[in-house]
Amino acid sequence: MKLVGNALRSLFGRRFTRKYPKTRPELPEGFRGRVKHLPEKCIYCGLCAKYCPSGAIKVDIKNKKFEYNWGRCLFCGQCEEVCHTMPKRDAIKLTREFELSGKDRKDFRYSSKGAQLASRNFK
Ligand code: SF4
Ligand code: SF4
Repeated sequence: MKLVGNALRSLFGRRFTRKYPKTRPELPEGFRGRVKHLPEKCIYCGLCAKYCPSGAIKVDIKNKKFEYNWGRCLFCGQCEEVCHTMPKRDAIKLTREFELSGKDRKDFRYSSKGAQLASRNFK
């Protein structure tokens, strides 16, 4: 009897699922999505790469090149935390972008230089 009640509640009650992607999810405060790099603000010090726990960032200090692979990213925010560009530490930021799937590993890469890597730098 309880089972029938549960089934009826599920059929006619409030929906708990959303018709994604038609209905967008409400992201919580402080949501950590894909990293965005701003080449014009970056001083290529390499701190973000040094402190990235998963090796998702590579910085070539000499040639001023920044690479980010969000296929390896843990979205921990450590890179944003250690970036010391002034005034707002805004050379690197975690965005609210979460739709990060792709068909090829090459799709998961951003490079501040070099056409060999895809450069999908989100807004
Ligand atoms: S969010 Fe964390 S894992 Fe991702 S690039 Fe930054 S430091 Fe690395
Ligand atoms: S993003 Fe920030 S921490 Fe990373 S290389 Fe640029 S200035 Fe340095």
